Formats: sequence, C-alpha cells, structure tokens
Amino acid sequence: MTEAAIIDGKAFAAELRSRIGREVEALKSQSGFVPGLAVVLVGEDPASQVYVRNKARSTVEAGMNGQEIRMSASASQDEVLAQVAALNADDAVDGILVQLPLPDQIDTAAVLDTIDPAKDVDGFHIQNVGRLSAGLGGLVPCTPLGCVMMLKHRLGDLSGLEAVIVGRSNIVGKPMVQLLLAENCTVTVAHSRTRDLSDVCRRADILIAAVGRPEMVRGDWIKPGATVIDVGINRIEQDGKTRLVGDVAFDEALGVAGAITPVPGGVGPMTIACLLHNTVTAACRRRGVDRPVVG
Ligand code: NDP
Repeated sequence: MTEAAIIDGKAFAAELRSRIGREVEALKSQSGFVPGLAVVLVGEDPASQVYVRNKARSTVEAGMNGQEIRMSASASQDEVLAQVAALNADDAVDGILVQLPLPDQIDTAAVLDTIDPAKDVDGFHIQNVGRLSAGLGGLVPCTPLGCVMMLKHRLGDLSGLEAVIVGRSNIVGKPMVQLLLAENCTVTVAHSRTRDLSDVCRRADILIAAVGRPEMVRGDWIKPGATVIDVGINRIEQDGKTRLVGDVAFDEALGVAGAITPVPGGVGPMTIACLLHNTVTAACRRRGVDRPVVG
C-alpha cells in the first residue's frame, strides 16, 4: 500500500502569508492604508508569550502594522475592558486579538463580547458566531478556516463527502461544522460521550481530530484513503525529551490515510496565516474597499 501524502501546512501557510504581503502592498499603494493588528496579552503564560511573539513577527513580515499590548497578570477586568474599548476606538486598528486563556479574575466571555465584531479577527464574538451559523459571512475562527483551506487545496470540491469532526469546542469543532456544511459535506460531530467512536471515525472521507489527547485516533479508525486533519497539539515526554504529537497516531495513519497533516507543521502554521488573512478581510470591510486581486 502507498503511504499517505503529507499535507504540508508550513509550505501552504508560507504561500498564503506571501499572498497576504502582496495584498497589503496593493492596499497601501491603491487605497492608501496599511492594515493594523493589535494583540493583547494578559499575564506571563509561557505558551501564550510564544504565540503572541509569533503573531507579532508574522504581522510585521506581512507588511502590516502590529501592536503588542502586555498587561500584568493581576490586571482587573475593568482594565482589560478599557484596553479593548481603546482599541475599538482606534481607527488605525483593524483587528483585535486577546490571547486566551485569560487569568482567573477576568470574565473571558465579557472580554470577547466587548471586542468590536468588525475587528474580531479571532471570530469569537457572539455576532460572528451567529453570522457563521446563519451563513452570513462574518469573521471566521482561524484554526478551522485554515483546515478548510487546506482541505479545498488538497481535494477541490468537498461536496457530498462524509466529514467526521472529533471535538465540539467553540474555537475548533463547532465552527468547523459550519464551514464544512457550507462546503456541502455531510457532517458528524463526535465528542467524549460518543458511542463506538472508532466506528464513527471509519465512516469519514474527511476526519478532523480536535481533541487534545495524544495519538488517540488509531490507524484502524481511519477509512482507507481518507484525508486526516490533525488539529491536536500535545506535549509528551519520551526518552527524557519533550516532543509534540497530534491527536492521531501518525505512523499508523500513514499506512491507511490518503493524506494527513503532520504535527508540528500542519494545522499550526495555517492558524497564524489565517489570522493575517482575517486582518486584511476586516481592514477591507471596515474601510469599504474590495480585497485586492493579486497573483
Ligand atoms: P477542548 O478541550 O476545548 O475540546 C476538546 C474536545 O474533545 C471536546 O469537545 C471533548 O468532548 C472532546 N474529547 C475529549 N476527550 C475525548 C474522547 N476521549 N473522545 C472523544 N472526544 C473527546 O479543546 P480545543 O478544541 O480547544 O483543542 C483541541 C486540540 O486542538 C488541543 O490539542 C489544542 O491544543 C489543539 N489546538 C490547536 C490549534 C492549532 O492552531 N493547531 C488551535 C486550537 C487548538 P466534550 O465536549 O464531550 O468534553
């Protein structure tokens, strides 16, 4: 049997980032503005600091204006809300991202709902959640958006395909349902109470694992030839070293799947590229200009 093709998210994300760079150039020369993204980090969570640094670097590399706002771990709810309100009012800021998780004293839902929906590049504001469900084209969460871009690039038309999503979180599983329904897939959502999970997974032409459990999806849960998108990022200790693995047993899946995203180097890089993509989308919509067509 032939080995599964590797869906190279790193290369695809690099292409997308470079296209976004050309869009930003075109906006600058044709419409006279540069999109701006503000990222707010509250506290010193090490993983969040890495994510925020990567986002800031990618923003600048794409030619956009980037702002990084760091607030102390003891910042109050009012202080965070006031910071978001100031960014809402700043016309140079097109996209606002508040890095999650927030410290315990902060009500995450209240913060997310304070972000101007037109600047909500994470797509977590309830208005954007509703727009996505109703097919009204709001800003879409970055991770599922990146997954669907990779699927369309790999498979072309997704119409009629059986998609199984394992995981029903608000940031990955649920928006993925809406995006795949919009692509005319037949969608099943599995979760921790699903019975006979392996049988459900074996139905999938497209299998999305967004669980957060290292290598839970085994090779024999995969339909031969299926396309597997592994969203999971899990740190495991092996031979005294830490390494990253996904939610899918990658080596087993290689012998069964038609194509699979690796971890790392699959979904992760696409998430940041989609954040930049959403910032350009938000900038064009807010300023009433068409997204530039670039080669
Ligand atoms: P959540 O913890 O919010 O959700 C996990 C989901 O998996 C829940 O719906 C849960 O079910 C389900 N689940 C848990 N255990 C099982 C099980 N044994 N069988 C079936 N379903 C199960 O996680 P996220 O959606 O936020 O993230 C999922 C993974 O994706 C994580 O590893 C995370 O690090 C990664 N991630 C990666 C991103 C990237 O850019 N690559 C971005 C975001 C997340 P229930 O609802 O019943 O509890």
